[in-house]
Amino acid sequence: MSAPTASHLLDVRNLHVTYAGGVAAVRGVSLTVNAGRKVGIAGESGCGKSTLALALLRLLPAGARVRGEILLDGEDVLTMKWGRLRAVRWAGASIVFQGAMHSLNAVHRVGAQIAEPILLHRKATAAGARRRTGELLERVGLPAARASAYPHELSGGQRQRVMIAMALACDPRLIVADEPTTALDVMIQAQILRLVQQLVSEQDVGLVMISHDLAILSETCDRLAVMYAGRVVEEGPARQVYEDARHPYGQALSAAFPRIGDVASRFAPRGLPGDPPDPAALPAGCAFHPRCAVALKSCAVEDQVLRLTAPDRRAACVHAGPMDPVALMGPAGPAGPAGPASPAGPVGATGPADPAGPADPAGPADPAGPADPRSPMAPESPAGPADPAAPAGPADPARPMAPPTPADPTGPAPSAGPADPRQSPPSHKPGGP
Ligand code: ADP
Ligand code: MG
Repeated sequence: MSAPTASHLLDVRNLHVTYAGGVAAVRGVSLTVNAGRKVGIAGESGCGKSTLALALLRLLPAGARVRGEILLDGEDVLTMKWGRLRAVRWAGASIVFQGAMHSLNAVHRVGAQIAEPILLHRKATAAGARRRTGELLERVGLPAARASAYPHELSGGQRQRVMIAMALACDPRLIVADEPTTALDVMIQAQILRLVQQLVSEQDVGLVMISHDLAILSETCDRLAVMYAGRVVEEGPARQVYEDARHPYGQALSAAFPRIGDVASRFAPRGLPGDPPDPAALPAGCAFHPRCAVALKSCAVEDQVLRLTAPDRRAACVHAGPMDPVALMGPAGPAGPAGPASPAGPVGATGPADPAGPADPAGPADPAGPADPRSPMAPESPAGPADPAAPAGPADPARPMAPPTPADPTGPAPSAGPADPRQSPPSHKPGGP
């Protein structure tokens, strides 16, 4: 276990998850989340988002191999003793899953389900837990009296509110929300998102919000990471990533969503042809190259690592950056109030409003940070270390990237696929550890 680093609420370092059978679902993800900050994770179904979420609280099925570090308030979740892990679940971090109907126990009243972790973790009296349950329900916009309802007596939106109340029950420092609104209609979706945002800012918790919907994440989150084939391929301030993606995959994902006010995009949202790769048989080189309209020959053999494209943005594409070092540092020194952004920083590390101190966790003061400008975020590249000072291809880094593909109305939109049936939560019931 590494020495505790108190600077980030959540600090995921070079996380790898491989399921039995060699399914490399997460391949070297690093990200940080600070209190009161919201980090979004986007990507097509199957890119490893839920695997990442489950790994954060060690909820992966037996047989999954996990490598890397998951520091929650400086303590590595992956090496925690079981008793400590039980204490951390709910109280340190909690998860809101997609599809509340599957996550709630159908034969228990929702109040009892919210009270259960309170009783387990807080050692409150039964009366105290009941009182707190009522308060929690009211905080998520439900009358306290709904505590006596069974899940089937509530609407989908009300059930999801119950899930959020449950996630808040033990005052967690971090909330991980995996597609919390995917099954809900747009009105309820907006209400739930507003609620989540409000709770995050009022209670100063950190939020990891997972969705296939880039538009929702750009509205809700401060920073946004786009995953493809188990890796973060692009990250930066949420709006910028949504509106001006640097990675062809980020561009395609963003173009797949019609924009309010943009009639053309409404009638012809662009899709991305092809399917995400099978994580058990990933293509050589950049995993996105078979679907990429701007791939170079070299992309079929050279893997790409995240590199700076702007002081607080990174993308893993041969066409993206590296940034001009002069523009990065500025003639008068480091760019921006947060100091020089480093390619070594993980996702979420360079938010301008980062209250947790230095923006660059891998800076010289961090004993765990590599001196190499390649990052802990940078997955190990089979093609050898990418040197941010030497573009891996002939492309002009200043050239704006072409849209990844001509509009293909017949092609599947990245997010249009049916929900992954495995996304129903694991046996994670309120009574669980
Ligand atoms: P997402 O949430 O982005 O849709 P997942 O994390 O659920 O993606 O899945 C990532 C990859 O891991 C997929 O290819 C999926 O098939 C595979 N996978 C997920 N869970 C398991 C499991 N329990 N066993 C084997 N493979 C799995
Ligand atoms: Mg998922």
